[in-house]
Amino acid sequence: MKDCIFCKIVNKEIPSKIIYEDEHALAFLDIEPVNVGHTLVVPKKHFETIDKMDKEEYDKLSEAILKISKGIMCLADGLNVMQNNKEIAGQAVPHVHFHLIPRYNDDGYRFDWKKDEDVTEKENNEFLEKIKSFLK
Ligand code: AMP
Ligand code: ZN
Repeated sequence: MKDCIFCKIVNKEIPSKIIYEDEHALAFLDIEPVNVGHTLVVPKKHFETIDKMDKEEYDKLSEAILKISKGIMCLADGLNVMQNNKEIAGQAVPHVHFHLIPRYNDDGYRFDWKKDEDVTEKENNEFLEKIKSFLK
């Protein structure tokens, strides 16, 4: 897609530190790594968010994520896999990407997902009922 920075990386129009490439996926180092080896894995085809992907493309991307995860786990003590959709969820680049963040013992990071108010059981039960109708 024109004007998409990750499409430009996929098309080698702008440079990146590529760590893995196959027919469907590209993986490169994040330009602002939160830890050594912070990697982004993207589908070569442009999808804005994960729900726009078709199964075949997602399966191919998953294969690359699994392969790279196995490699990272040979070099690191742990691994966070994260993927953001839409601005509210922290997505800055609207081209699907998975963050693979190697973790090292005593690296000093904490992932704190606490929000101001706890989720109530009622809210969770309502979600449970609604989501089922979309997953049949
Ligand atoms: P997100 O907030 O999930 O959309 O993550 C976007 C990520 O893309 C951030 O971690 C950025 O540091 C990274 N990023 C943006 N531009 C580039 C680039 N040209 N090369 C590598 N990583 C990039
Ligand atoms: Zn794109």
